[in-house]
Amino acid sequence: MTINTTNKELEKKDYSGVTDYIKKVLSIIEKDQITKEEAEWVTRETVDGFRENVNPGFLDYRKTVTKDKQFAAVEWSDSGSCFQDVNGKEYIDCLGGFGIYNVGHRNPKVVKAVTDQLNRQALHSQDLLDPLRAMLAKILAEITPGDLKYSFFVNSGTESVEAAIKLAKMHSDRTTFIATTRAFHGKSLGSLSATAKGVFRKPFLPMIQGFRHVPFGDIETMRRTFESCALVGEDVNAVILEPIQGEGGVILPPEGYLQQVRELCDEFGALLIFDEVQTGMGRTGTMFAAEGYGVVPDILCLAKAFGGGVMPAGAVVAKEEVFKCLFPNPFMHTTTFGGNPLACAAAIATIDVLIEEKLPQRAAEVGEYMLGKLREVGNEFPELVLEIRGKGLLIGVEFHTDEIGYEVSKGLFDHGVLVAGTLVNSKTFRIEPPLTISIEEVDKVIATFKQVLETLSEK
Ligand SMILES: *Cc1c(COP(=O)(O)O)cnc(C)c1O
Repeated sequence: MTINTTNKELEKKDYSGVTDYIKKVLSIIEKDQITKEEAEWVTRETVDGFRENVNPGFLDYRKTVTKDKQFAAVEWSDSGSCFQDVNGKEYIDCLGGFGIYNVGHRNPKVVKAVTDQLNRQALHSQDLLDPLRAMLAKILAEITPGDLKYSFFVNSGTESVEAAIKLAKMHSDRTTFIATTRAFHGKSLGSLSATAKGVFRKPFLPMIQGFRHVPFGDIETMRRTFESCALVGEDVNAVILEPIQGEGGVILPPEGYLQQVRELCDEFGALLIFDEVQTGMGRTGTMFAAEGYGVVPDILCLAKAFGGGVMPAGAVVAKEEVFKCLFPNPFMHTTTFGGNPLACAAAIATIDVLIEEKLPQRAAEVGEYMLGKLREVGNEFPELVLEIRGKGLLIGVEFHTDEIGYEVSKGLFDHGVLVAGTLVNSKTFRIEPPLTISIEEVDKVIATFKQVLETLSEK
């Protein structure tokens, strides 16, 4: 057979420019070290690419959160609790990718498991039985609270919430979902229906019908909502919430609240979905925040740190009574890449590291130490700091105004400490470093925090 090479259109297309560019990029990826000239080239190309082909809005955002030229900080490598930019400047990562890096950056055990798997098979056939999915599901049934048993694997947090919502809808024909104000569950249309923030939702209304938001922590309003929904024949299918609200600004549940929500769900025959995308995998001092509060949900959503900071990976884990609605036809909800062998290898190694290195306990201990030290510093500047709260290594620092929070996070970044804080919402920033962070690194963060507050207080 001969291949037709006379396609005129193809011959006319000149790829020489782009192939030279591709070769240059690949040669840079390959290198252990880059030169100063290469670093400058990388920075130039990155800023240009963002402006012309990604989204110039990101450059404006970076300009607002950093001093002078630092808006063009381009990340390049990472390990442990730190990452480096192309010029070799090191940052202690207290943003932790909003909770991705629980076992640290490029944890060697996770990298090894993924590399070993990659050297044999990267992705699955989509037809035969893939072994690691089964093994990871077994491990999850073992380590998740109560009788959570069956797992469906996904690639991200929003996908885990989508799967949870679809599972709940398959499980019963009830149409009402109760979510909470200040909740964050992701930005695809299904999970966005549960997410609370108006600016993210408004252009996309109406979303999935039947979602109601009640104030987080207010059990009476939730009870009344259950009752009125039942009265009008629109019974509650499920309640979805984060045991501790992350994106909302590290909002801890009031004493007894989560148990009361569990009881309400049981009383009205509704499901309880815990979105532990951020609080799971040891972050708050127990493997799952649910355990810390002694409450077992019917469906548990995981992602972020689930892939060990190496692979995108997530899961929904459910009780058999709920999950069994997918037994007759497992193709009712599928994803091509969810549960792929690389992601499963990463998750299995991540769980191993969390258990072996007792990282949930470490999060509890180091978190308590860090929270105490941060509060000591915060108390010295009551005119700036309003409240510091948290559980484990999920800590929120709340300032009196957005401007103060924004100046503090800018100052910290300048001194090589990354926290989450933006111009539009920096009243509270989150500190969620790797659970492996050393006490020396914690002390350095505290000292920097103090220095930045002092400078600001003098102004
Ligand atoms: C980050 C987050 C999500 C969304 O995860 P993505 O991977 O960004 O889709 C959902 N729920 C919670 C609680 C989160 O923190």
